[in-house]
Amino acid sequence: MVAQRGWTHIATFEDRSISAADARKRRPGFEDLLAAIGRGEVDMVVAWAFDRLSRNRRDEVRLIEVCGAAKVNLAFVKGPDMDLASAVGRGVGEVLAALARMEIEQKGERHRAALAQRARKGLPWGPIPAFGYGPDRVTVVEAEAALLREAYAAVLAGASCRGLAAQWNAAGVTSRTGKPWSGAAIKRVLINPRYMGVRATSIGTGTRRILREVGDAKWDKIVDEDVWRAVHAILTDPARTTASTRVRVHLLPGIARCGVCGAPMRSYTHAHGWAAYSCSTSRHLVRKADPVDELVSEVVIARLSRDDVRDLLVDDERPDTVRLREKAAALRVRIAKTRAAFVQDDTMTPADLREMLAGLQGRLAEVEATMASATRAPVLAELVAAADVRATWESLSLDRRRAVIATLLEVTILPGRRGPGFDPNTVAIDWT
Ligand SMILES: [Zn+2]
Repeated sequence: MVAQRGWTHIATFEDRSISAADARKRRPGFEDLLAAIGRGEVDMVVAWAFDRLSRNRRDEVRLIEVCGAAKVNLAFVKGPDMDLASAVGRGVGEVLAALARMEIEQKGERHRAALAQRARKGLPWGPIPAFGYGPDRVTVVEAEAALLREAYAAVLAGASCRGLAAQWNAAGVTSRTGKPWSGAAIKRVLINPRYMGVRATSIGTGTRRILREVGDAKWDKIVDEDVWRAVHAILTDPARTTASTRVRVHLLPGIARCGVCGAPMRSYTHAHGWAAYSCSTSRHLVRKADPVDELVSEVVIARLSRDDVRDLLVDDERPDTVRLREKAAALRVRIAKTRAAFVQDDTMTPADLREMLAGLQGRLAEVEATMASATRAPVLAELVAAADVRATWESLSLDRRRAVIATLLEVTILPGRRGPGFDPNTVAIDWT
């Protein structure tokens, strides 16, 4: 056909291995063709038929737009040519593209409407049943639910998602994707509201994905709302995510505070090779890490070995969780109402909305954090019940020991004299 019409063949673009059924797949040949047209290397595109060239509506819109802009003609073995170099041809192309765009939008809208309706009804979603639920996506799988309950309790007791992932992988617990568990995967599972029986919809993708609670789900919860909210507050605490990406070997980074400025202390390796704590804002305070860790460990062991240790678990000033839960629920209603008001009120700008939401969400985060600390009794339970406190303490993972310290103590590193030797008076330890 090319020779017949007196044209010169420049290049062939093919997507041979990709069937029409894989319309969502990337087509490298098609993409190369669009790029070549965009660079002005092409005057004319010859194809078998229009529906072979653009396998889906999205590609159709792109092809017509690119060819129209570059004034490139489309010729087909089957079907009439599309002369996008002429005004009439471009007009036809634009109408076709508009039609295709409308079809895409309608399909998207129908799809979104269907999803929103499923969400409002509290019906499950997604192609695979969630961990903890059976093939009907509603029935609880008891063995998996037990693992999940243990995981929630472990996070409250100070365990890390990475540690839980290692534990589950060692125990041969398979994930729905078949891949080994990672800390991130465990976190994604635990912070999904489905496990407290709440249906959510997701907004955004990847690390920016957030879940918005829609309402009661049609499936059974696996943990209580209090537990879920407390774990959610712990796992989404920004201070935790930055700290947990590094492998920690010392007890007090992020827990101990600088006695000069009050900033958290961080750990690093000193030029002389020893591990040190340093103020996270400046080098105005540096201390050898090992003697500080040893001192704090001994203080904890001593406190937990005393006869009155059980008093630690009964705290008269423990916040009233029922009241906190009501407060959190009220704040969530106000956040939802503010969002709804924005949709109806034309005078409200997106900046106004953001500002109003930021205030409410800040207060909600505070209430959730208080709830989290109120449910942290499990942190100490194991040690309080232990016959041999020292052995139990030493058997705990670093994360667990850090959680115990953070629950019991406030540690401040004070400035002291320079010189060799460790002065315990430069570590201020207060009971919380
Ligand atoms: Zn400082």
